[in-house]
Amino acid sequence: KPLQLNDLRRDGVWASSIINGLANFHSDFHLHGQRELSSPIDCVSHGRLGFANQQDVEYAVAAAHAAFREWRLWPAPKRGQVIKAIAESVTQHKQALARLIVLEAGKIESEALGEVQEWIDLCDLAVGQSRQLHGLVIASERFEHQLLEQWHPLGVVGVISAFNFPVAVWAWNAMLALVCGNAVIWKPSEKTPLCAHASVQIVLDVLKRMDAPLGLMQLVQGDHQVGQALVKNQKVALVSATGSCRMGQQVAQQVAARLGRSLLELGGNNALILAPSARLDMALRAIVFAAVGTCGQRCTSLRRLIVHESLLDEVCSRLPQIYASLKIGDPREPDTLLGPLIDGIALQSMKEKIEEAILAGGILLSGGQVIVGVPVGHYVQPTLIRMPMQTALMYEETFAPLLFIVPYSNLMEAIAINNAVPQGLSSAIFTQDQREAELFMSAVGSDCGLANVNVGTSGAEIGGAFGGEKATGGGRESGSDAWKNYMRRSTNTINYSQTLPLAQGVNFDV
Ligand code: NAD
Repeated sequence: KPLQLNDLRRDGVWASSIINGLANFHSDFHLHGQRELSSPIDCVSHGRLGFANQQDVEYAVAAAHAAFREWRLWPAPKRGQVIKAIAESVTQHKQALARLIVLEAGKIESEALGEVQEWIDLCDLAVGQSRQLHGLVIASERFEHQLLEQWHPLGVVGVISAFNFPVAVWAWNAMLALVCGNAVIWKPSEKTPLCAHASVQIVLDVLKRMDAPLGLMQLVQGDHQVGQALVKNQKVALVSATGSCRMGQQVAQQVAARLGRSLLELGGNNALILAPSARLDMALRAIVFAAVGTCGQRCTSLRRLIVHESLLDEVCSRLPQIYASLKIGDPREPDTLLGPLIDGIALQSMKEKIEEAILAGGILLSGGQVIVGVPVGHYVQPTLIRMPMQTALMYEETFAPLLFIVPYSNLMEAIAINNAVPQGLSSAIFTQDQREAELFMSAVGSDCGLANVNVGTSGAEIGGAFGGEKATGGGRESGSDAWKNYMRRSTNTINYSQTLPLAQGVNFDV
């Protein structure tokens, strides 16, 4: 099949704007860096991406700031109406946008549709939130005084996003940031620029229609250097960065050096504990989806399976059978479950990790091979390796469908294995034993931001706060009270008496 970008012309108005955008990228590429664009499906080049330069970033930040000054005056429920219109427009373009995600990120269609659905769901959340950005009235210690807490918009929010959720990660941040009264400047992954271009086009069309300031949504394309220009810009009040721990470590220090705020969503190294009472059929489905879905390229993908010794033989015989039945190939084919890895670097790091594990005593139960064929992309067999125990090689995230299996004999040992890695994003236990489930979720249980019971590690709902601890960066996005990250708190003391009593009974007569 020829590469499908031309097909997008049939999919709606915005689809042709992507093509125009691509033409612009062509003419812009001499400005700063450039990058060859190709789909991971077949690695055929379909153009070049021109990078923004320092001046472009400064201009975008200034334009965003000007838009913010106007937008912060809009009542929050009115801002919510704009988000509602964005949701309607995204719903109309859902199929076409999902198709673009398939092309750029190599996801299967149902997962790409799920990603666009997350944007729509997040809009719903933000619209509801628009009437609930409320503060507190606190009991004052002084007679005839009020003590209040209010939440105000922050300013310009910079969003740096990863390739694996080329739309949803930005949407989580951008929809909440907008409803909270901020402007957004987005530096998407250089591996998925067209998804960003299309998403921003949808937002800009709505802003225009609703007479909202157009400068509210800025897009700066490019690699880490463009990200750096954003990170170092004093006018960016919050930098929300999603990506590898390596990136987060640098961004966190640089933003802290200018005393700015950062919100970090970094790598995971997620584990699932399979307890003796687990419903095995259900658990195996959860394991396979979590380990293999999105070709193992989710931050919440399952990397480590901690199996009770009584179940080890059965799991090690049943899982390879399921793995052998999974269809790998072109994600546009309806029955494909595993598309390609994003690029050759990802493939190489998977290969190296497999070799390292086998040298360390791992037994290859399934997979391990690169698939060579047509189309020419980075296709791999999902891989299962049984390890005698957890070793240092399992402490790093390998962003690929590679699952290590280790045994345990008692739950506290399994929890210790779960918690031993530097990252702390997602975790799960499959058990029918309430005591085990409670222990896993307790203060001495999983140390991750997400701790699930009888649910796999991947596929979180947007209603909960999403994020992880330790090297995952500590940030929280999406639901619960994550909106507070995009606002500043103002504490107000009001004296409605005729005197001036000082706090803590201090006397200071003048
Ligand atoms: P990456 O770190 O290579 O790049 C992520 C983004 O950061 C890109 O836009 C990149 O250009 C930019 N960037 C990289 N270095 C930078 C720097 N020094 N300064 C400023 N910007 C910089 O990550 P990736 O390969 O695109 O994505 C995979 C990683 O993202 C995995 O580790 C995955 O677990 C993580 N991830 C985490 C979450 C989460 O919510 N915790 C969600 C999705 C992905």
